[in-house]
Amino acid sequence: MGGIVIIGNGIAGTTVARHVRKQSDRPVTMISSESRHFYSRPALMYVYMGHMKLDHLKPYEDWFWRKNDIELVFDYVRRIDPEEKRLFLANSPPIAYDKLVIATGSKSNYFGWPGQHLAGVQGLYNLQDLELMERNTRDIRSGVIVGGGLIGVEMAEMLRTRHIDVTFLVREDRYWGNILRSEEGAFIGRHLKQHHVDLRLETELKEILGDASGRVRAVVTHRGEEIPCQFVGLTAGVSPNLDLVRDSTIDTGRGVRVNTFLETSAPDIYACGDCAEICEREGERGRVEPLWYTGKMQAETLAKTLCGHRTAYDRGVWFNSAKFFDIEYQTYGMVSPEPQDHEDTLYWESPSGGQCFRLVYHKDSGVVTGMNSFGIRYRHRTFERWMKRGATVEEVLTNLDEANFDPEFFKRFEQSIVDAYNKTAARPVRLRRKKLLGLF
Ligand SMILES: Cc1cc2nc3c(=O)[nH]c(=O)nc-3n(C[C@H](O)[C@H](O)[C@H](O)COP(=O)(O)OP(=O)(O)OC[C@H]3O[C@@H](n4cnc5c(N)ncnc54)[C@H](O)[C@@H]3O)c2cc1C
Repeated sequence: MGGIVIIGNGIAGTTVARHVRKQSDRPVTMISSESRHFYSRPALMYVYMGHMKLDHLKPYEDWFWRKNDIELVFDYVRRIDPEEKRLFLANSPPIAYDKLVIATGSKSNYFGWPGQHLAGVQGLYNLQDLELMERNTRDIRSGVIVGGGLIGVEMAEMLRTRHIDVTFLVREDRYWGNILRSEEGAFIGRHLKQHHVDLRLETELKEILGDASGRVRAVVTHRGEEIPCQFVGLTAGVSPNLDLVRDSTIDTGRGVRVNTFLETSAPDIYACGDCAEICEREGERGRVEPLWYTGKMQAETLAKTLCGHRTAYDRGVWFNSAKFFDIEYQTYGMVSPEPQDHEDTLYWESPSGGQCFRLVYHKDSGVVTGMNSFGIRYRHRTFERWMKRGATVEEVLTNLDEANFDPEFFKRFEQSIVDAYNKTAARPVRLRRKKLLGLF
């Protein structure tokens, strides 16, 4: 059998390579132009903040790849020739493939704002952006961040660790308004303010102004306000990186269009991770899942297909986690940003404002369909199990203590959450206390 060639050495490409190697001894080549070795993209911020060194972001030693007979090529793929099954690279001879995996990730969005290419204006996606940010923020006093999503809040934290004043422009009426409900959005908004981030809601960027040397000196909002700054972080989301395939015969929409087997429209070419748009039915708009863990799951599935066991991707119960400064966030199932008619919801916030929790459940059956938690850690496996088998709100609340995963001696909030539910519930719930193990 011929070789499997993977374009991209992010979590998706790397996971395909590792899992193919676990199941077969077919030649595997991984090509990337960003870095010689795979590293953890979500941990980039910790390098800037001085918590980690770049080397710490690599989960595998550099010898791992050779030992596992995975060839690494540090180069940029310019063109795919699906007819001849060959790739053309910027600096190396063409590479032939038997099966090709496109795992080219995402790119930061630039929406054509005037001044977006001035010096000191940038997004944050890759190692080169991190190096640029290091240079762009040296000895500056203030920065403006545009776009209220996860990368924006990371950038805000990064700048604040260096005591740089941050103004955060968010178009919506709350932070992360296309994902979070109004209470959670307001909760995080307050948290950002506690960290001295000047959060400006319902505020859009109109243009970025430069000085005589071509460096940013201010931004102008849609209301005409001029905010002086020496740095602008553009974090208005990411989009699938289609640079390589846009002009090819491979079908694209928002991403590289694939079916549930992660097969593209071209024979023996597959796509997974951030760049893939998964289409359940032909011709329909598919979904893009720009997340670390879904990229990994897609890649594990694809490796099975590449090794002869054609397998459909099933992402299971939706899950995501993140961190907003010091508040950890987990979500399971579906908590839509606006309430739905068929749902009821329990929302609880701790008196100190450091934690909040939401359950969404079906009005009639009581079956839990979504959960958000901020500042309290719950066990992934427990919530996944509950959601999979359609546990009711009463069952979840009765056993909530059991699911808590906070370290020992952390304050517990489950009784307070249950009390909040019982205030209006037709049938009160009694919290089952977690059994204490150990010396008692
Ligand atoms: C700052 C930041 C924080 C994040 N935090 C989280 C988080 O907390 N949780 C979470 O779930 N997700 C997070 N994400 C998203 C997560 O990192 C991505 O979903 C994931 O890295 C995508 O993996 P991937 O393998 O699909 O693509 P990528 O990691 O983007 O890898 C693709 C690689 O392909 C290379 N490439 C592209 N085109 C070519 C070409 N033509 N030739 C050669 N090489 C090419 C690219 O340079 C890149 O190195 C974060 C992302 C960023 C930027």
